[in-house]
Amino acid sequence: MVRPALRSRSPRRVAKRTPSGKSKVFYEKRGSYVANCSVCGKPLGGVPKDLKEVRRGSKSRKRPERPYAGTICPTCLALAYKIAIRSA
Ligand SMILES: [Zn+2]
Repeated sequence: MVRPALRSRSPRRVAKRTPSGKSKVFYEKRGSYVANCSVCGKPLGGVPKDLKEVRRGSKSRKRPERPYAGTICPTCLALAYKIAIRSA
């Protein structure tokens, strides 16, 4: 049996497949947010949804190691680079 705090229904239960291929139930806090691209508004990848991890995790865990990561999506960044290079 899981620990008492997880027996409550307040954490969300999410079934996920682990890298080994087994299906496992993960417990997530409800009311998480999604970081969006500031240009097109699409949800950003590689940015944790858990606010606790955003506050406490190491810098490399919070966003990808790329210029403007966590702010602009890779598609918009590629477009911005193209425009900048062609106008120079
Ligand atoms: Zn974008």
